Amino acid sequence: MTATDDTRAAQSDLPGARRHEHLRNYPPPDTWDNHVAFDAKAHPRKVAREFMLIPTTCFNCESACGLLAHVAKDDLTVTKVEGNPAHPGSRGRNCAKGPATINQLTDPERILHPLRRAGERGSGAWETCSWDEALDDIAGRIRQAIIDDRRDEVVYHVGRPGEDGFAERFLLAWGVDGHNSHTNICSSGARLGYTLWGGYDRPSPDYANAKVVLLLSSHLETGHYFNPHAQRIMEAKHEGSAKLVVIDPRMSNTASHADLWLAPWPGSEAAILLAVASHLLQTGRIDRDFIHRWVNWSTYLQRLHPDAPHDFETFLAKLTEDYAEYTFELAAEEAQVPVEKIRELAEIIATSGSALSAHIWRSAAAGNLGGWQVARSLFFLNVLTGSVGTPGGTSPNGWNKFIPHGFDMPAGHDVWNELLWPAEYPLSTNEMSILLPHLLHDGRGKLDVYFSRVYNPIWTNPDGFSWMEALTDPAKVGLHVALTPTWSETATFADYVLPMGHSTERHDTHSYETHAGRWLGFRQPVKRVAMDKLGQSYTDTRDSNPGEVWEENEFWFELSWRIDPDGALGIRKYFESPYRPGEKVTVDEYYQWIFENRVPGLPEKAAEQGLTPMAYMRKYGVVEIAKDLYRQDERVLGEADLDGAAPDPDGVLRKPTTDESTPPLVGEAGVVGVQLDDGSTVAGWLTPSRRLELYSDTMASFGWPEHATPGYIESHVSRRRIDTDAGEMVLVPTFRLPTLIHTRSGNAKYLNEISNTHPVWVNATDAQRMGLATGDLVRVTTRIGYFVARIWAHQGIRPGVIALSHHMGRWRLNDTDASRWVTGKVDLDHTEDGVWRMRYAGGVGPFESDDPDSSRIYWEDPGVHQNLTFPVQPDPWSGMHCWLQHVRLTKAEPGDRYGDIEVDTRKSREVYHEWLARTRPGPNAEGWRRPEFLMRPVKPKRKAFKVAHADVDGAQRQE
Ligand code: SF4
Repeated sequence: MTATDDTRAAQSDLPGARRHEHLRNYPPPDTWDNHVAFDAKAHPRKVAREFMLIPTTCFNCESACGLLAHVAKDDLTVTKVEGNPAHPGSRGRNCAKGPATINQLTDPERILHPLRRAGERGSGAWETCSWDEALDDIAGRIRQAIIDDRRDEVVYHVGRPGEDGFAERFLLAWGVDGHNSHTNICSSGARLGYTLWGGYDRPSPDYANAKVVLLLSSHLETGHYFNPHAQRIMEAKHEGSAKLVVIDPRMSNTASHADLWLAPWPGSEAAILLAVASHLLQTGRIDRDFIHRWVNWSTYLQRLHPDAPHDFETFLAKLTEDYAEYTFELAAEEAQVPVEKIRELAEIIATSGSALSAHIWRSAAAGNLGGWQVARSLFFLNVLTGSVGTPGGTSPNGWNKFIPHGFDMPAGHDVWNELLWPAEYPLSTNEMSILLPHLLHDGRGKLDVYFSRVYNPIWTNPDGFSWMEALTDPAKVGLHVALTPTWSETATFADYVLPMGHSTERHDTHSYETHAGRWLGFRQPVKRVAMDKLGQSYTDTRDSNPGEVWEENEFWFELSWRIDPDGALGIRKYFESPYRPGEKVTVDEYYQWIFENRVPGLPEKAAEQGLTPMAYMRKYGVVEIAKDLYRQDERVLGEADLDGAAPDPDGVLRKPTTDESTPPLVGEAGVVGVQLDDGSTVAGWLTPSRRLELYSDTMASFGWPEHATPGYIESHVSRRRIDTDAGEMVLVPTFRLPTLIHTRSGNAKYLNEISNTHPVWVNATDAQRMGLATGDLVRVTTRIGYFVARIWAHQGIRPGVIALSHHMGRWRLNDTDASRWVTGKVDLDHTEDGVWRMRYAGGVGPFESDDPDSSRIYWEDPGVHQNLTFPVQPDPWSGMHCWLQHVRLTKAEPGDRYGDIEVDTRKSREVYHEWLARTRPGPNAEGWRRPEFLMRPVKPKRKAFKVAHADVDGAQRQE
């Protein structure tokens, strides 16, 4: 077959993939082992080269799109990374960041060997060490911490997980309460809003079949799951005539595609959505049957209108009355947009029937005090229109995501780590990781071993200088191990930097809610798979990766084995092979067991093709488990599901449990479903009532009865709190460039060539009023300091609001431990009294390396690291860092230079205490530290959720 024939081949044999009539340019899978293509570098000569096309999954955002790596047969190099047409989520398509994986593999500055600090933390002095030396040192410390019962001193802090279920395994096996995430700089707000409704923490819209797509953010091109979602939104728009509505103060690329774009004052979004809800109620354009069956309307009436007649009609009348205060006029005033636009929005939503696909993830929910109520108000529209779990509607993520666990999963531990789950935030979703430096400063604990893994908190988090202060203090952080494929500002301050593989260099399984189906993706080290096919031997993935780069799973197996070499701690048994008793499990065996035992339908699909389940996954890199999944709340439970469960007085089906029971990741231990009034026994939702909770007893029980229903909480940056005449503005620092990845695009040269400017967006009217023009230097002053940047004056952002994207502003202290494609070298000054100053000593520039492209760098701007100047602003309910900043915009002062940063970390402490004072600490009156049904990674046993009754009386909880 010639390359031309090959690339024109039809793909009728793609298993599980939805064929798409526009996609015809992928080689069919049965030719993937023998693919011939012309060598692009030989152009214009036509030189054929033989390849194996080996599927894997992208690691450059959370979507896990399919990739197909072109592995040359002659030298096993990866020459190209394209889309995998067999993947039902991405369907062969990728954004720019997927193919840019090739840059990450060949980056001349990538970390190739384990490194140990050879000077002060942050000095840039490193020495190579062996994996054995690093493993023995780290394992010895963890072992001692476990023996000493210091099980809250070992913390694994993950940024981009890129996998499901594996980290849980080793943390549970070690018995440490040490899972820490980046969630509260990302999505805690939306998670709480969605969880209070249905127990699931995020939405899964069925965009492709929607009549109306409602996006609160620039989701389409730059948000969550953006490629799989974006392609379906555009299909709905062009093939199904769906209306696209975007609510965003900034004219994003998404907004440019919208039928209606609303640019409200940030933080007013819940008022807008509740005005729409009120309109739906008043005009009766609601799905009465759905609400009657699934909403806890009875509880709503009992709690808020106990004296009213207890029937559904009264409930609807009371609900309509209760939300009547949310008028179009109120929304228009809060949002500072014309009232006609709110009315137009409400009418569009009213026409959606049961096909309203709505989504929020970061954006307003991640920006504002009370932002979680924006997500809750948005889902209220789905509930009222009955567009929940319907074709074109919005499902919960759990219906479309699949997490298989490995053999013999360890049970929950009984530890509660107050550094990660402080009492002040009993409803947080999830860990309060932004507060870690402050909690360490408060003396609430210390860390003996701290892993940062694909995470760069000094740069990504707010208040990075407080992180720097904590990470350079050995009394607070004993040993910092950075597991990373690329240099970062945080890795610079580590004790060990251990090189981990990119998406073509490691194994993982994961799946995401890309559409109304369910699939499991399999990431694999493609060169190692090619070696298998060619019969070449290896010991582990280090033998196929560049340098001594490893894959994490093999690293964790080995580390766990060394923590408990003789099995005396009860850890080793979880890392013994299910096929070879007593011997260390291999990564192949780990996944083989999962694919044989935990993935519905996979063994049968594989057998149809004469393959083992493992061979099937190696061949396609993905398996489709279900398609067209709707209304899973109505799934009828059989005897096997019930397993002896009996209905309680509210119809919740419960099995007997004890304090030793470990709850599932979401939901309560022992609860399997609900028996409804008509006697049907169905799965329902994951809330305590197993219904959709319009009224949340949980909120009331944890001291917030005033927020037990969807409502509008005035943001910390509401219009009335900002004095624009005094130069005050709202800074939106959360929008992203679709071509950059937080830290890891630092070593993707194509991406840096595409995106390399970092202006502050300012409305042209504001700029004119202040005597500013595009390119002028300004100071942006926050509560704890200021940064200096250049403005871009235009009409694409609403007046009173400025915005700066959050993927630039990269810097380095040393040339030895940074990505020079993207960073500017800085001078750092720290005075005795806690004031930090950072100034660029130079911009991005050409450098000599093995890659001739590094000498051709023509861009100069590293951007401005705005996050350093933000104090922590944790929302008192969700724990979400409220990213939007109340700032003052002024002309730059004499001596100011582009990129200058000044921060006083004593002020950081003051702001931390101010926001802490807004909380109402747990436990609740029943002694629960946290509601059991809320998601909590690495969930402990039920008894860890409870405090002793004597402590409850002494708790500072406010009623
Ligand atoms: S959307 Fe882009 S970065 Fe994200 S997984 Fe897909 S290809 Fe990779």
